[in-house]
This record gives sequence, structure tokens and C-alpha cells, in this order.
Amino acid sequence: MTTAIASRELNALDRCDRCGAQAYVRVVLESSGGELLFCGHHARAVEPTLKPLSSQWQDETARLHQKDSVLVND
Ligand SMILES: [Zn+2]
Repeated sequence: MTTAIASRELNALDRCDRCGAQAYVRVVLESSGGELLFCGHHARAVEPTLKPLSSQWQDETARLHQKDSVLVND
């Protein structure tokens, strides 16, 4: 389950292509090499369709469950 393609960590500037929420999954399409970004919700929605077509499926949704440093007090 390793890939030679360098991945990068997603950050707050990465937005879901579907809804604009913060992206936690990065997909690289095998055919075009194009990059798609999805939030946790949409990643699950497109996974059955896109995963077989992808050369890379970078899932950082585990970070959604990290409670520390995600809260903004205002
Ligand atoms: Zn989304």
C-alpha cells in the first residue's frame, strides 16, 4: 500500500470541490493525473466511483476526530 508519488498534507486552504468545506481527502486520477479534493462527507459519497479510477487516495479524515487545536473560540 505504498506509492512513489509524493503526497502533501492537506491544510485549511484546501477546499472540497463539491461544497467548499475544508478538504480532508485528496484524490489523484490515474487517467489525467488531475487532483480532486473532497471533504469527509463527499469523499465517502464519491469513493465507490472514483477510487477505482484513482492512482492515489490520500485520506486525512482521521484528523477530523482530533479534538485539540481545532476549536476556535470567538
Ligand atoms: Zn464536500
